Amino acid sequence: MKIINSSATLQEFVAYQHQHQLRVGFIPTMGALHEGHLELIRQSIQSGNQVHICSIFVNPKQFNDAKDLEKYPRPIEADIQKLESVGCSVLFLPDYEQIYPENWQRFPFQFANLDTTMEGLHRTGHFEGVAQVVYRLLQICTPDQIFMGQKDFQQVAIVRSLMKQAHLEQKIELVRVPTVRELDGLAMSSRNIRLSAEGRKRAVFISKTLFWLQANYKNLTPNEAQNQSKTQLQAQGLDEIDYLEIIDAFSLQPVEKWEDALSVVVCVVVRIDGVRLLDNVILY
Ligand code: AMP
Repeated sequence: MKIINSSATLQEFVAYQHQHQLRVGFIPTMGALHEGHLELIRQSIQSGNQVHICSIFVNPKQFNDAKDLEKYPRPIEADIQKLESVGCSVLFLPDYEQIYPENWQRFPFQFANLDTTMEGLHRTGHFEGVAQVVYRLLQICTPDQIFMGQKDFQQVAIVRSLMKQAHLEQKIELVRVPTVRELDGLAMSSRNIRLSAEGRKRAVFISKTLFWLQANYKNLTPNEAQNQSKTQLQAQGLDEIDYLEIIDAFSLQPVEKWEDALSVVVCVVVRIDGVRLLDNVILY
């Protein structure tokens, strides 16, 4: 696996691949890699790309909490080994200046209401930071496909919208990959290692509640489904619920009647031991 630190070098590298008709898959991450990230690389391989570029960049602009940024794990040696083990071709490992050079100009994205609910409401400025970094990474990497995890459902919607606004959706395909889970159902996340042993045990009830809802929502109204799911979480001592929203998969707005939406997702964030744990399932 090649390790590239410079944006200009990566641009040249990708241009060379494209001149030779090789397809490039791109997987942006913040490192502390786990099976969820590795699955994105496997999907790039299975989708017929010949070159797989994973970036690791802990983007300060998307952290609204300085402590969360400071505590974000950065086990780079282990990450390199994991990437090599799944057949990643290139690790793009830029520093801050490579991503945000002095002459860098933000793109004036407008997300209508995609960024005013859920994560947008609870993490001010988060999606502005995500959008700018993904846009910049796409400019540098110019892939044929970008792979992102369903675990960050709202983030995928934001990236889909930014690609439309920047006229990239004709050139680059966005592939959403299902959430990879621990054996007990907990969605894999780089933040899970910050849970205490007791917190880790309780965390299983997040996915349990979502799967319960998946099996039972048809007998309930969306409002009842939301209330009963929250009650179930609270009954397990998970009472720090940032939100539990039942939303239209396209507009990300809350659903009042099932028949109003073609596709519905339930998205939740629960705090355990001060760690924000995100999860979602698609109901239909
Ligand atoms: P992050 O390093 O947290 O920014 O995540 C990088 C990419 O990996 C994003 O597209 C995430 O949605 C995706 N990802 C993170 N956790 C998982 C998971 N458990 N399953 C699938 N994709 C994931």
